[in-house]
Amino acid sequence: MPHAVDAVAPQGDAHATFTVGTATAARGKKALGVLKVPAGSDGGYDMPVAVIHGARPGPVLAVAAGAHGSEYASILAVERLTDAVNPAEMSGTLVLLPIINVPSFEKITPHVNPTDNKSMNRFYPGDPNGTQTDRASFVVTKEVVERCDHLIDLHGGDLDENLRPYSYWTVTGNQKQDELSRAMVLAFGLDHIIVSRDRPKDPKASRFLENTATTRGKPSFTAEAGRSGPVADNDVTVLVNGVLNVMGHLKMTARPVTPVRNPVWLELVVSVTAEQNGVFHPRVDRDAHVAKGAPIGTVTDYHNQKIQDIASPDAGIVLFIRALPSLKKGDTIVSIGVVKKGG
Ligand SMILES: [Zn+2]
Repeated sequence: MPHAVDAVAPQGDAHATFTVGTATAARGKKALGVLKVPAGSDGGYDMPVAVIHGARPGPVLAVAAGAHGSEYASILAVERLTDAVNPAEMSGTLVLLPIINVPSFEKITPHVNPTDNKSMNRFYPGDPNGTQTDRASFVVTKEVVERCDHLIDLHGGDLDENLRPYSYWTVTGNQKQDELSRAMVLAFGLDHIIVSRDRPKDPKASRFLENTATTRGKPSFTAEAGRSGPVADNDVTVLVNGVLNVMGHLKMTARPVTPVRNPVWLELVVSVTAEQNGVFHPRVDRDAHVAKGAPIGTVTDYHNQKIQDIASPDAGIVLFIRALPSLKKGDTIVSIGVVKKGG
């Protein structure tokens, strides 16, 4: 195989091959492998990775999914990208992490890694001496984030979340970087965009995967589609096309891209959390436009007696609403996006 590569790669190509974990791809090739999360205070595991190394040099784009291993549309989207991209027709490098949280995927556990009960999008940049989530986050930071130029983290509605699709655009205050990430979000194509101004600024305490890239100077963003278990093909397609659009925007491919026009900018997200355990009965669907104080749902006790009326805390759009009757204290019942005034 190396001989075929020499025909493509120019002499002195500093990146004739690109390695992530056990996957080493030569120019114009695709390699499948794993990132080894080492054992520590608890067990280790293998995180799947694909490296698609374009025939010509260009930016390194990392695309991750499955930090929450039951957000299935985003996982299937990255799985599909493994075969949707032809390295012979590509510039730059695509690094795909389809399932960060393999234990959650295998055990069908929403929100957390069942090994240590931690969300796998809250403990970046990670810690080689921590529990499994900390160690996995550390491996992703070292092997993927620090080696890429851009990162897209894909999420969606988890098993209990009836979610409408949206992207997040993080404002860092670095105007040039923010313009680049804004153009990526618009190229991706989702027409609802949450503007995040309060994300961590400290690269040593970045918490989220996207912010781990952003605080290291890499224009990046997060997008969400899919909901509540069963996968709608359209949600997968939206995410796949979004990544392909960003690749076209970054000139990694010749794909023509039309950025979304007049998206809905959401300057604020307000949520209602459960005050006590109970049974949730929704009264609105995802994407409903609600007034401040509008009825969102009711909570009953286990004898069907009403214990709480849920009202919308602000006027806005239902980004997601609880999809399941099970409700325990502290669960998010509804998340409302508040539209930018005058924008
Ligand atoms: Zn998620």
